[in-house]
Amino acid sequence: MDYSYLINRIGDHWKQKYGKKIFKIIMHGDFTCPNIDGTVGNEGCIYCNMKALEPYIDLEDNNDIEQHMKYLKERNGAEAFIAYFQDYSSTYPSHKINDSSSYLKQLYEKAVSHPDIVGISVSTRPDAVSKTELDILKSLDTDVTIELGLQTINESDLEWIVRGHTVKQFTDAVELISGYGFDIVAHIILGLPNETDESIIELARFINSGKINGIKIHQLTVLKNTRLEKLYNENNAPEILSENEYFRRLGILIRHLKKDIVIHRLYTDAPSKDLIAPLWCSNKTGLQDKIFKYFKENGIRQGSSVHTS
Ligand code: SF4
Repeated sequence: MDYSYLINRIGDHWKQKYGKKIFKIIMHGDFTCPNIDGTVGNEGCIYCNMKALEPYIDLEDNNDIEQHMKYLKERNGAEAFIAYFQDYSSTYPSHKINDSSSYLKQLYEKAVSHPDIVGISVSTRPDAVSKTELDILKSLDTDVTIELGLQTINESDLEWIVRGHTVKQFTDAVELISGYGFDIVAHIILGLPNETDESIIELARFINSGKINGIKIHQLTVLKNTRLEKLYNENNAPEILSENEYFRRLGILIRHLKKDIVIHRLYTDAPSKDLIAPLWCSNKTGLQDKIFKYFKENGIRQGSSVHTS
């Protein structure tokens, strides 16, 4: 089904930009996070379970890369790829590495060296990105996207999820990154304790007003082996959104996002083995269609509530 009239989807955006069907290939580096290594925190964000991420490609194994590309070409019609680093803060190498700048340079160069790779996307935190890493990415001479964790613009909720950074740090990082001409994708979470319909609209205006090109939207999700699991079991977590309520709040956000903001993700999915709640997000395939059906039935179009004066 063609849903491009409902939202500005990343797949359609890539098709327009590259004239090809693009897929991400998840690659692995030896990274850690300032919110885990003791720099700003030791235990990470309350929902963090990096082990629940999708499997990745081993960059040391060329055969692995070729096999995975072949699989995506045959199964999904992929024509080119974006190298994607998503684990921990992917600009922040583990302390086992002596020279982090050389490590990052070699790792990223290797990642984009395949002729079918058209760009690189790196997921990180506002306090884990500086000129050093951005200069290395710039030197690759390829399209660069930085995915930057924001999660919320409510400082109390940022504290509740123990993010270890402020909204100001996020906006400062956006300012720095935008100077390099890289695309910037904000990660956000719906369903945090202080969220209201008005705060969702405020969040959309915040995304619209800056130098942010895209957004990845997640629902608050309880994974096994996280501090959120403990809070949830003790009834100290906010109510986890039902499917209907998530769709409703998502609809508010989408209507208030400008049409040129590219939507990279509409919800989190998690493997059943790692998932506590909400259980409705374990059905990856059917869920996207359900969301679009909801949007259609309720007249939701990206940007339909954005008023320019
Ligand atoms: S910033 Fe990312 S890697 Fe670091 S603790 Fe939070 S969720 Fe985990």
